[in-house]
Amino acid sequence: MKALKDFFALLFGGHCILCDDLSLEYVCPNCVSTFENAFEFFYPPFRKSFAIGIYKDKFKDLVIKAKSNTIAMEVISKLVLKFLKDKKFEGFYISCIPDDRFGRSHLDRIVNNISREKKLPIYRFQKIKETKKQHLLYFGERRLNVENCFKAEFSPEKILLIDDVITSGATLRSAYKELTRSGSKIVYSLTFAVSPVFWENYKNSVHK
Ligand SMILES: [Zn+2]
Repeated sequence: MKALKDFFALLFGGHCILCDDLSLEYVCPNCVSTFENAFEFFYPPFRKSFAIGIYKDKFKDLVIKAKSNTIAMEVISKLVLKFLKDKKFEGFYISCIPDDRFGRSHLDRIVNNISREKKLPIYRFQKIKETKKQHLLYFGERRLNVENCFKAEFSPEKILLIDDVITSGATLRSAYKELTRSGSKIVYSLTFAVSPVFWENYKNSVHK
């Protein structure tokens, strides 16, 4: 079977976007098999939180690629939609952490997909302050960096908020603060990945 698939992949010139092996899928089954299962967790102040995987190995490569590569984002989009398939979001709007490309960021692409598939209207808010890249800062500096950097108006009561990675959680919490200030009551977070450090700390804090 594998030989047959390789033959067709060779014929059609298909390669896995993560390992470059011959593949008929954008991501080969070998790489897919290293992904963790998507999961739900409780991360206050969010009412519910979802993550599609842990930010490591091949999945990390995929999430990084998705920032600039639309095929990688489509792969993530499929994983997200599969996970959300049986979940109900009655009365929810879909939104994402904004950047300087108003409505045209890599996250907007997936917001559009989820909106279409789950029939959720899109809500957009704005980034109003220049920020440094969070991953270049110490954890202590990250909260200050993103403090008051978002501006929302007439936020809907219920929002499913998309971001790519939780590391310190500072960006998501800053957005949460602005969304609830401007009207939201229930906010769910959905990130593609949680960083291994975040996840270790999270599990330790829950089990204390
Ligand atoms: Zn691969």
